[in-house]
Amino acid sequence: MSIPPRPLSTPPRSPSIQPDPSNVPPVGDLPTSELTRHGGRALDWIAAYLDHPERYPVLARVRPGELRAALPAQAPDAGEPLARILDDFEQLIVPAVTHWNHPGFLAYFGITGSIPGILGELLAAALNVNAMLWRTAPAATELEEVALGWLRDLLGLPAAFAGSIQDTASASSMVALAAAREAVPGLEARTRGLLGRPDQAPLVLYLSTEAHSSIDKAAIALGLGTDSLSKVATDPDYRMDVADLERRIAADRAAGKRPFAVVATVGTTSTTSIDPVPAIAAVCGRERLWLHVDAAYGGSAAVVPELRHILDGCQYADSLVVNPHKWLFTPMDCSALYCRRPSVLTGAFRLTPEYLRTTEAEAEATNLMDWGVSLGRRFRALKLWMVMRAYGREGLAARIREHLRLARIAATAVDAAADLERLAPVPFSTVCFRARPPDLAGQEDQEGVRLHLNALNAATLEAVNGTGEVFLSHTVLRERTTLRIAIGNLRTEERHVARALALVREHAARLDREQRPTALGRKP
Ligand code: PLP
Repeated sequence: MSIPPRPLSTPPRSPSIQPDPSNVPPVGDLPTSELTRHGGRALDWIAAYLDHPERYPVLARVRPGELRAALPAQAPDAGEPLARILDDFEQLIVPAVTHWNHPGFLAYFGITGSIPGILGELLAAALNVNAMLWRTAPAATELEEVALGWLRDLLGLPAAFAGSIQDTASASSMVALAAAREAVPGLEARTRGLLGRPDQAPLVLYLSTEAHSSIDKAAIALGLGTDSLSKVATDPDYRMDVADLERRIAADRAAGKRPFAVVATVGTTSTTSIDPVPAIAAVCGRERLWLHVDAAYGGSAAVVPELRHILDGCQYADSLVVNPHKWLFTPMDCSALYCRRPSVLTGAFRLTPEYLRTTEAEAEATNLMDWGVSLGRRFRALKLWMVMRAYGREGLAARIREHLRLARIAATAVDAAADLERLAPVPFSTVCFRARPPDLAGQEDQEGVRLHLNALNAATLEAVNGTGEVFLSHTVLRERTTLRIAIGNLRTEERHVARALALVREHAARLDREQRPTALGRKP
C-alpha cells in the first residue's frame, strides 16, 4: 500500500504531427490555474450561500419554462470564460433553484448538503472514477464496503448484512425485489423471464397502503405489473395491519397465487409511521417470503441509541434500504442497500462479458457492477465516509436528536392551538396537521365542512409557500388534506418551525374569512 508517487518530470515529446494553432480550437482541459481562480470563487460562493441561505426564497419564484427561455437554445460554438459562466450561475440558475439547503425547507423530507458531504462530492468529481469493477476503482469499492459497514454498525444491523450504494431508494428497492424474484424456487425469472409461463402461478408482493410509490414502480419495472401488488390495510396510526397481511396471504394461496415478498416500511412517506416489522418478519419466516424493509427516511434515526428499537425485527429482513441522502446529511444521491444473503442479489444481476473480465479472485474483490443494473457507478462512498468521520457517531446522533426535538416542539404547538389539528403521531421529525377553524371542530360529518377544510388547507399551503420563508408539502390522510412539516436540514432552528406554524395560522384565518361558503356560516 505504500507505492511512492512518481516524481514529476517533463514527459518526452511524442513525434506526432502538431496541429496548426491558428485554425484549431484548443484541446485538452483548461489550465489548473483556472481551477484555483474560479474554484476559489465557487467555494466562497458556497460558504456565503451556506451562511445566508435565507437570502433566497426557499421555493423558486419561477414559472415553468422561464429558465429555459432565459438560456440560449444551443450550446456556444466557442468556449466561454468560466467567470462569465459563474456569473450566469448566480444570475440565472440560482434564482430558478428551490433551495433544499434552506433552513425553511420543511417539505417532503428535509435534507442537508453538509460541508463534509460537499467536499466529498468535489473530490469524487476530481477523481472521476467509475466503480464498475474492483480493478477500475479499488478505493471506491473498498471504501463503499467500509462506509456501509460503519453505517450498518451505527444502525445496529447484523454484521451479516452486506451492502452497496445505489443512487436512490427507488433503485435500491427495485434491485432488492429483483433478488426476491430470483429467490422464488423454480421461477428462474433471470433466464426464462415472466412472459408466457403457464407453469407459474402469478406472484404477489405485499405492501401497506402507506408504502412508497417506488415499490409500485419496482413491480412495473420487474415485469410483475401493478396487479401483483396487494395493498395491506393500516391501523389507525397508519401502520401495516398484520392480521390483514395474513388474511391476504391465505386468500391468495387459496386462489392459486404465489406470495413471494413483503415490503415493510420504517418511516412511511406521508406520516412516518413504523410498520410492526417483528410481527411482519414472523409472518415472512412462516410463509417463506422475502422481507424487504424500506427505511429510506426513518432508518437513519437508529444512530440515536435510544431509538435503536425502530429497527427491531429488521435483523430478520432479507434486504433493507436506508438513504443517507435523506436524514444522514449526505448530499444527493446516496442510498444504502443491505442484503442478508448478498449472493442471491448478485446472482440476479451478475453478468460478465469478456471485456469486463479481470484476474482478481471473486472472493477477494467485489465488483460493484454485480449489485444492480448500472455498470458505471459514482464514488458515492467518499462523501458518506467523510460525513460519518466529520460528525462521528455522537455528532450524528446529536443532530438527529435535535430534529426530533424540533418536531416535538412543532407537535406540541399544534396540539395547543385551537385552530390547528394534528392528524398523525410523530415518531420521527415530521408533523402532519391541518388548519381547522375552531368553530368547525367536530362537524366533519357535513360534506360542506369537509370540502371547505380541504380547500382551505390547499389554499393555505399555496399562500404559505408563496412567502418564500418556508416550504411545506402536503398529503391526504383519510380524505383530509394534510400539511406536513418535515425537519431534516442541519440549519433549521426553532424559529423556522415557529414561523411555519405562524404563517399557516395567519393565512388560514384570512383565507377562511375570504373563502368560507356562506352555507357554513361565518366564524364567530
Ligand atoms: N421510500 C420512502 C419511505 C420514501 O419516503 C421515499 C421518498 O421520499 C422513497 C422510498 C424514495 O426515495 P428516493 O427518492 O431515494 O428514490
